[in-house]
Amino acid sequence: MNNIMQLGKGCCGCSGCEQICPKNCISMQKDNEGFFYPVVDEDVCVDCGACVKHCPMITDAPRCSEPKVYAAKYKDRESTFKSTSGGLFIPIAKNILSDGGIVFGCAYDENLVAKHIAVESENELCRLQSSKYVQSDTRGIYEQVKSALKSGRQVLFSGTGCQVAGLKTYLSRDYDNLLTVDIVCHGVPSPELFKNYIDYMGKKLGGSLTSYNFRSKEKRGWDLYYKADNGKKSKSDYGFFDSYYSAFLYCKTYRESCYECKFANKNRVGDITLADYWGIQKAHPEFYDENGVSLVLVNTEKGNKCLTKIKDKLDIIESDYDKASVMNSNLVHPSKRPSCRDSIYDGFDCGNFETYAKTKLAFKINPKTKIKKMIPLGVKRFLRKLR
Ligand SMILES: Cc1cc2nc3c(=O)[nH]c(=O)nc-3n(C[C@H](O)[C@H](O)[C@H](O)COP(=O)(O)OP(=O)(O)OC[C@H]3O[C@@H](n4cnc5c(N)ncnc54)[C@H](O)[C@@H]3O)c2cc1C
Repeated sequence: MNNIMQLGKGCCGCSGCEQICPKNCISMQKDNEGFFYPVVDEDVCVDCGACVKHCPMITDAPRCSEPKVYAAKYKDRESTFKSTSGGLFIPIAKNILSDGGIVFGCAYDENLVAKHIAVESENELCRLQSSKYVQSDTRGIYEQVKSALKSGRQVLFSGTGCQVAGLKTYLSRDYDNLLTVDIVCHGVPSPELFKNYIDYMGKKLGGSLTSYNFRSKEKRGWDLYYKADNGKKSKSDYGFFDSYYSAFLYCKTYRESCYECKFANKNRVGDITLADYWGIQKAHPEFYDENGVSLVLVNTEKGNKCLTKIKDKLDIIESDYDKASVMNSNLVHPSKRPSCRDSIYDGFDCGNFETYAKTKLAFKINPKTKIKKMIPLGVKRFLRKLR
């Protein structure tokens, strides 16, 4: 065996190997935790080594080490309300579409499965908006990106660091018409775990979910509130008070490679990096906004050109990496693997998510946090003014 399967749990699941294989002998298949890993048909494999050569975990994609750092907000507040942080992704994407370009990013399909898709019109962009805290399926997407690039269209590809690196090693050359945005990433839970959770939430609400927003701003503005909806009934609560969400926030359910992530540092792989500007209240108190603030790292000249083009659509100030990293550890190192990760997926697919969650994803609610989250938003605003 001289192929991609030697990576074992070091694989990030970008599926670049499946898409590059000239013999089509690699398929991404779910393991017992519900993550996709490559499986090679050894009878067809000719050991050409393409999968290894184009793997982002083995071959390094070009990186930048000295980003320009900004705190920014998209001036369109209605749009930003639907985004995760300060809504920066949308003006970047609109700028590409206005040039007749094409935007690739993560959307839910009709069954709430997170998948990378291509978007060609502004009214479809909302599908890419907001973070889906689960690993997105990128099968087949790099092939689509390459064919759009070859046709000469402007292309924006957005995703986690490993997905952007996967695209770059898949392409193995730069394209002037390609802009990449990587998002700062804490780690990703398995698609199968998310599916079980969504089914369970649907049952709890009395009908299958039609939408699930991890970062709904309806109740408490820019925070960690989810909203699950089935068209008739909805449930919204703080992420730390939910089994799936709190396990995500406490880094319990990530893909094994996330704990060794080589993209969780200052050497960014995208032209632009986007994140929540956590800690803005301390770093730049005058810039805080309860509708959200984005952290923007401009890593390359291409990224800089894009930002210059959209600057009049933003409120933006300069910041610096050290300030931005204080409350955002994934800018410095990968998430730490807790010991409970060894067995966290045991029995997750037993058919009874509630029982599984009670034993494996049990969480304690800190009474102080509970009280803090019960304070009405109006009172919170008043207290903030007094500070
Ligand atoms: C799994 C995950 C973990 C994250 N962890 C952190 C963190 O620890 N710290 C931090 O500051 N920010 C983190 N983020 C990034 C943050 O939540 C926002 O995505 C970022 O601030 C951009 O927000 P926005 O308001 O500009 O636009 P939004 O409209 O919210 O951004 C949407 C963008 O996110 C991409 N996206 C959404 N879900 C996924 C996904 N599952 N996989 C790949 N791409 C996706 C879309 O393609 C699109 O480009 C994480 C995001 C994800 C998906």
